[in-house]
Amino acid sequence: MNEKVYVFGHKNPDTDSICSSMAEAILSQKNGCNNVEAKRLGNVNKETQYVLDYLGIEAPELLEKVEEGQQVLLVDHNEFSQSVQGIENAEILGVTDHHRISDFKTETPLYYTAKPYGCTATILFEKFKALGQPIEKKEAMLMLSAIVSDTLLLKSPTTTEQDKKALEELAKVADIDVNTYGIDMLKAGTNLDDFSEEELVNLDAKKSEKDGQKFVIAQVNTVSIEDVLKRKEQIEKAMWKEIENNDLQLFVFAITDILNSNTQIIALGNKTDVVEKGFGKTLENDMAFLEGVVSRKKQILPNIDKNM
Ligand code: MN
Ligand code: MN
Repeated sequence: MNEKVYVFGHKNPDTDSICSSMAEAILSQKNGCNNVEAKRLGNVNKETQYVLDYLGIEAPELLEKVEEGQQVLLVDHNEFSQSVQGIENAEILGVTDHHRISDFKTETPLYYTAKPYGCTATILFEKFKALGQPIEKKEAMLMLSAIVSDTLLLKSPTTTEQDKKALEELAKVADIDVNTYGIDMLKAGTNLDDFSEEELVNLDAKKSEKDGQKFVIAQVNTVSIEDVLKRKEQIEKAMWKEIENNDLQLFVFAITDILNSNTQIIALGNKTDVVEKGFGKTLENDMAFLEGVVSRKKQILPNIDKNM
């Protein structure tokens, strides 16, 4: 029996998933649990790599699957379709998350902290406080980076007062100018040139299911939507491939302009009417421009899910 407890975020990990796993492991250690180890369920993206390089630390190790009975802690997700292979037979000791609860069930009692904040790290920040554990520079930077990422520097409509307060306090502890650092970090994540179109549509793709109908919403951040659209034809080919290989009803590729807070979506599949209904738009060349939309969780997913 493995005595380690693994803590990890969702597949296609973003900065919150990686940084919150690491912060949660640090908090557990401060509380005397030395067997909690951060893991990741996929490649580290460029934005997160910027954070790790800034701190001069390594990413958590990759976890491909878990054995039956493996003890785990989940952060930044709860849906099994977004979790590690084997999660159904793992022992989930706790969840710290800021998403809807769906497709989740356990055999045993657990700690479950869900708050409708803009970021998992904000919940962790409050846990450090509640447990009276000091926050040092490393975990301050980890949590601060996650908040910048998830809330797009507090500009996303998912941002709450708690996120603002946490970011302000963490920036003081880390002793950095959070706006300068934050823009640099976000920009580091927007260089998409090295990725093939197949990679692009999978970089930050989240699979959902409703009444047996599978759909994917993928999102990339950019400082120029136009630049990304230069590759539209190839991107669409890659999307069709995903649709065929995974039996999807719908694939939505969201290109989000993080400086101006807008999103261009490309929608393919046989349920694109769901997108038109959801946003009250007619798709032109498979596309629609969504002004003021930046959040998949709060602005894109609900509008699609309810019409699916
Ligand atoms: Mn996430
Ligand atoms: Mn998150």
